[in-house]
Amino acid sequence: MTSPTAEVVTVTVDRSKCQGYGQCCFEADDVFHLDEDGKLVYIPESTAGRRADIERAADVCPMQAITVA
Ligand code: SF4
Repeated sequence: MTSPTAEVVTVTVDRSKCQGYGQCCFEADDVFHLDEDGKLVYIPESTAGRRADIERAADVCPMQAITVA
């Protein structure tokens, strides 16, 4: 049986590092987007099926602000 925690991808963005560049939004636009003030809004928990795109978003972040667990 699969552990429930294995089915959840947890995203954390270090707001002290995030500069609102928005590259993450191109990789997983259902998880990350910039609001009208250019501030990053994100969904902290996603299903495992979104992991690849979320990890790509973390990889492209120029500030390395995104942690995926
Ligand atoms: S790519 Fe990184 S710096 Fe840019 S908005 Fe996303 S988390 Fe913030």
